[in-house]
Amino acid sequence: MINAALAMGRPVIPIFILDPETEAMGAAAKWRLGQSVAAFSAQLAGLGSRLILRKGAAEAVLLALVAQTGAAGVLWQRMYDPAAVARDTKVKATLKARGLIAQSHAGALLIEPWQVETGQGGPYRVYTPFWRAVAGRDFGAPITAPVHLPAPEVWPESDDLGDWTRGMARGAEVLARYTKAGQGAALARLAAFLDGPIGPYQSNRDFPALDATSQMSEYLAWGEISPRRIWADAARPLFEGAAGAEHFRKELVWREFAYHLMHHTPHLLTRNWRDSWDSFPWRGDCADAESWRRGRTGEPFVDAAMREVYVTGRMHNRARMIVASYLTKHLLIDWRVGQAWFADVLTDWDMASNAMGWQWVAGCGPDAAPYFRIFNPAGQAEKFDPDGHYRRRWLAEGRAKPSEDALAFFEAVPKSWAMSAQDAPAKPLIDLRVGRERALAAYSAARA
Ligand code: FAD
Repeated sequence: MINAALAMGRPVIPIFILDPETEAMGAAAKWRLGQSVAAFSAQLAGLGSRLILRKGAAEAVLLALVAQTGAAGVLWQRMYDPAAVARDTKVKATLKARGLIAQSHAGALLIEPWQVETGQGGPYRVYTPFWRAVAGRDFGAPITAPVHLPAPEVWPESDDLGDWTRGMARGAEVLARYTKAGQGAALARLAAFLDGPIGPYQSNRDFPALDATSQMSEYLAWGEISPRRIWADAARPLFEGAAGAEHFRKELVWREFAYHLMHHTPHLLTRNWRDSWDSFPWRGDCADAESWRRGRTGEPFVDAAMREVYVTGRMHNRARMIVASYLTKHLLIDWRVGQAWFADVLTDWDMASNAMGWQWVAGCGPDAAPYFRIFNPAGQAEKFDPDGHYRRRWLAEGRAKPSEDALAFFEAVPKSWAMSAQDAPAKPLIDLRVGRERALAAYSAARA
C-alpha cells in the first residue's frame, strides 16, 4: 500500500487513526498495538517521514486531513472483520463522491478470502480441502519496503502516542518484559525459527515448555510482518520436502482459513457457527469462569496456561485448546466467555483466529473437534508436559522456591483478586470424570 502511494509521485502522509472500534479493543491488545505504532513511527522516521496520529471516526478524521493538506486521496490496507468492512466501504464511497482517490490494498493475508472457491463456487467450510486449494498457489514475492518517503512541505499536527497509552500499567510493567515490537524484531524471530526449530516443528510444536513454534502470531496480528514474507522464507528450496516446514505452512493456512470463514460467515465472531447448537445449555459468566480467568481451577495445566497468558500476553496453542476445552466442556461455560477473556489478555489477539479457535474447541464451529472429544487436562499434562517444566514455571502455590515467572503473576494481577503465592494450591473445581460425564449428558440431551 505504501509502495502504491509512492508510485503516485506525490508527498505521502502516513496516518494511523484510533477509531472507536480500535479504542474498544482488549487491554493487552491495545497496549501491544501502541508498541507497534511506536515501532512503525520510528521506522518511518528512518525513511524521512512521520506517522500522524489522530483519534476519532475514520471518515471525519480523513475528510479533515484531506481538507487541511490538499491530499489527492487516501490509500489503506484492507481489514476483513464486518465492522471494518462497513466502515471502509462507507469511507470509500464518501471519498470517491468528492472526487478523491480511495484505494484499499491487500497486505494482511496470503490470499484474499474471496479468491478461493470450492468446485461448486461457494466458500470452504472444511480446512483440509481449503489447504489443498491454496497450497500450490503462487502468492507472489514479498514486497520490498521503500528506502525513502517524500514528505509534505508542512506536516499536519499529530496526537501524542503517550496520551493514548497512558494508564496501561500492566502492559508497561509486565507484558513489556515478554514482547519486542516492530518489523526488525519480527524478522529476527523468523530467522531464528527458520534456523532451528522449524526442523523438528512437527514433533515439538505441542510441547509448551519448548521454544518450538515461530511466535509469528503477534507480529502478524499487528501487521509487523507479512504472511507472504513468512511463506516465502519457509518455502525456500532448502525446506523442500521437509516435514517441519510443510507443517508450519499448514498452520499459516489455518490463519487464512479463519479469515475465509469470517468473510463468508461473519457470525463466526458472535454466534454458534452451527445454529443447531443454539439450544445447548451453556452456562454464562459465573464464579467458576472467574476461577478459570484467575488460574485457580485446581487443574495445574489449565492454571499454568491461564497465568502464562496473563503475564506474557501469549499462550501456547496446545494450552489454548486445553483451557478452552476445560471451560466449555468440563465447566459447561459458553465459549464466548472465554473468547472475551482471550480478547482482553492476548497480545496476539486476532478476531478471526480467536473466534475460530473457540468454536472449533467448543464443537459448534466449522470443521470442529467432535463434542465427545474432551481433552483431559491431567492426561494432556502427562503427555505434553511430562517433566512438569511448564507447570512449575507458572505455578507458585505449594512450592518452596517458585520461579520468577510464577511470582510475576502475583505482581501482575489486580489487588482486588487478593491472590498470594503463599495461598494453598487450589482444589479442583470439578472432578474430571464427573465434568466429562456431565458434558456428554448435556450434549446428548441437546441433540435429542
Ligand atoms: P506457530 O505454531 O508457529 O504457527 C505459525 C502461524 O500459523 C501462527 O503464527 C498463526 O498465524 C498460524 N496459526 C497456527 N495455528 C493456528 C490456528 N489454530 N488458527 C489460526 N492460525 C493459526 N491465534 C492468533 O493469532 N490469535 C488469536 O487470538 C488466537 N486465539 C486462539 C484461541 C483458541 C481457543 C485457540 C485454540 C487458538 C487460537 N489461536 C489464535 C491460534 C493459535 O493458538 C496461535 O496462532 C498460535 O498459538 C500462535 O503461536 P505461534 O505463532 O508460535 O504459532
